[in-house]
Amino acid sequence: MKDLIDIHTHSISSGHAYSTLQENLQIAKEKGLKYYGLSDHAPELEGSATWLHFSNIKNFPKEVYGVNFLAGIELNIMDSEGNVDNMPEFVLPGLDYAIASLHTICLAPGTREENTNAYLEALKNPNLKVLGHPDDARYDFDPEPVVKQAKKYHVAIELNNSSLKPGAFRSNAKDVIVPVLQYCQQYRVPIIMGSDAHYSFDVGNHEYAEKLLKEINFDTDLVINYHEHLIEEYILDSHKQYIKGIE
Ligand SMILES: [Zn+2]
Ligand SMILES: [Zn+2]
Repeated sequence: MKDLIDIHTHSISSGHAYSTLQENLQIAKEKGLKYYGLSDHAPELEGSATWLHFSNIKNFPKEVYGVNFLAGIELNIMDSEGNVDNMPEFVLPGLDYAIASLHTICLAPGTREENTNAYLEALKNPNLKVLGHPDDARYDFDPEPVVKQAKKYHVAIELNNSSLKPGAFRSNAKDVIVPVLQYCQQYRVPIIMGSDAHYSFDVGNHEYAEKLLKEINFDTDLVINYHEHLIEEYILDSHKQYIKGIE
């Protein structure tokens, strides 16, 4: 099946990534992606860009080299109440999408209950479209309520390719993500493969993610990357229309 999209990528603006946005877009074009999204790390991660980067990016062209450009951010979940980076309130609604993830630099792993709660609360964020790499064994959590909460708040779950690379620094990602994927199948929650590229050559690389989906016989109808209608519903459309009236 044709992989249309990669929205988890970083540029030199993240501080620990090594390619420019233009270089990333060149590779996105070479790999035949229809959509490319830049999701630099939000300001609380050491060395990343300030809120101004995320505010100004709306002026970047919407199409480059025939690839649709999406402006995003990878937020840091900062505490077990699910709070994310503190920025002027107009910044996030001005972006096409937000991913939220746990990073040890911003939040040390807590108890199973605390980690689960961090995800459950972060999923309520009205700007959130994707829960990033819930696959890190350092953060023990209960996958079933997290997947159910993702469904309730119309948020996609990421299958992160970098986590699955041999020798990846997020430990035992496969053991953690497989039960998450199984609950996604059970509750019909779409997933999105993300490269988490920190250099241009890795843009659009979903090799290990695709391999794992085949291995567990995951229903491709739930993989956003393969379906334009899911990209529209989960990534392009205004998220707010889906979550209006919840709680
Ligand atoms: Zn990074
Ligand atoms: Zn991350």
